[in-house]
This record gives sequence, structure tokens and C-alpha cells, in this order.
Amino acid sequence: MRNWKLKNGYTIFQVLILRSNCFLISCPNGNILVDTGIQGSRTRLMKNIKSLNLANSKIDFLILTHSHFDHCRNARYLQENENCKIIMSENEAEYARTGYTTLPEGTIQLTKLVSVLGNMIGEKGFGFDVFNPDILVKENLSLIKSGFDIEIIATPGHSIGSLSVIVNNEIAIVGDTMFGVFRNSIFPPFADNTRELIASWKKILNTGCYLFLPGHGTAIKRELVKSELEVFIE
Ligand SMILES: [Zn+2]
Repeated sequence: MRNWKLKNGYTIFQVLILRSNCFLISCPNGNILVDTGIQGSRTRLMKNIKSLNLANSKIDFLILTHSHFDHCRNARYLQENENCKIIMSENEAEYARTGYTTLPEGTIQLTKLVSVLGNMIGEKGFGFDVFNPDILVKENLSLIKSGFDIEIIATPGHSIGSLSVIVNNEIAIVGDTMFGVFRNSIFPPFADNTRELIASWKKILNTGCYLFLPGHGTAIKRELVKSELEVFIE
């Protein structure tokens, strides 16, 4: 399984790939899962976590980078079965309680159409089991008091309540704020507010992280984010 070791002894494991990525941050004090994937990936996700054979396998927190169906469909299951506390943005808490988040707008012609069609299908196609988040993030939240060198920051743009998880100021788990699917671009095919999205790239870059783990695709290097910022800011 793909993993990244940090200077403070933490390891980030990629516990789900393909349809969407999920990451488990494993620390001496416990574990934090970031995102949950779709329902069809549940068995694989749980199997992958189990296969790590962690001495302490308890999942303390589940952080949702945002509330789109492909990231949060197993949130309720994990809350009930793993007893983890769910952390998400206060700006999307209402969606969690109703079990549906509207699809974001497309950023190119094709995805604009996909978004319109998707929103016509609505909840039937893109709903999820309702859940009650335990901790809501406004601007940022440090988990240092809970024993983790982790900072959660608001990085809106893809969605109104998108969050990024900054691990020891080395690696950021960024959800769909950056896309790792295209070779020379991190620009997501869907975003509700591109101006905010680009401001969020800048904010994440300012943390000093050298690597960015997106919700889709592969890890993104700092240099690419920097060059993208130059392109979009001009
Ligand atoms: Zn999304």
C-alpha cells in the first residue's frame, strides 16, 4: 500500500484508490481517517485498514474534506461501527444532516453539462446516509490538544466547506481542492467558486508542505502548485 513517512514518526497510508482516495494518518497516539469513498468501496476500505495490522487500530477521528457523495458515503457506517468522531466544515454540516449535497458546478463545458444533469438526478443518485458531525470547523482547527500534530484549515472553492488536513507542515491532504488526475494541471473539473479555489491553493502552499495528496489521482508536488498559481493569478 502506498505510504508516506513523516519526520515526526507519523505514517500516511493510502487506504483507498481509484474512484476516490482515502488516507489513514497513523500516529503513536491513534489514527485519523480522511474521507471514506463510496459505498461500493466500503469492504475494500475496511480490509485495507485491517491489513495494516496496526498495534493501535482505533480510528479516533474521521475528517471529511467535504460532503460530496464520493467522499462521505461511508461516514455514518464508520461513526457507528468504529466509534470515530466526525470532523467537517460547519458550512456543510446541514448537508450531512439531510444526506445530500448538490453537485458542484463544472469548470469546463463538458463538466458544466455533467453537473446540470447530475443535479437533475439529485438525491436519488448522489445522496448518502445522514449523519451528525461531532466537531465542526470554521476557519481552522488544531488537533494538538487531542495529541496529534495536525491542523485542519478551511480551503473553500471546490465546495463551500472544503477542508485540507495539514500533517506536521510536511504533507497536506487536500480533497478536491487540487486534482491529481492530469499531468500538468491541478485544476479540478468541478468547483463552485474558482476564485476562492485559487486563494485556497495559496493558503495551502503557505503552510510549507512539500506534497499534496488529492481526493482523486496521484500525489502532487509543490512545484506544480506553484506554477499553476502563476498561470491562474495572471
Ligand atoms: Zn468533490
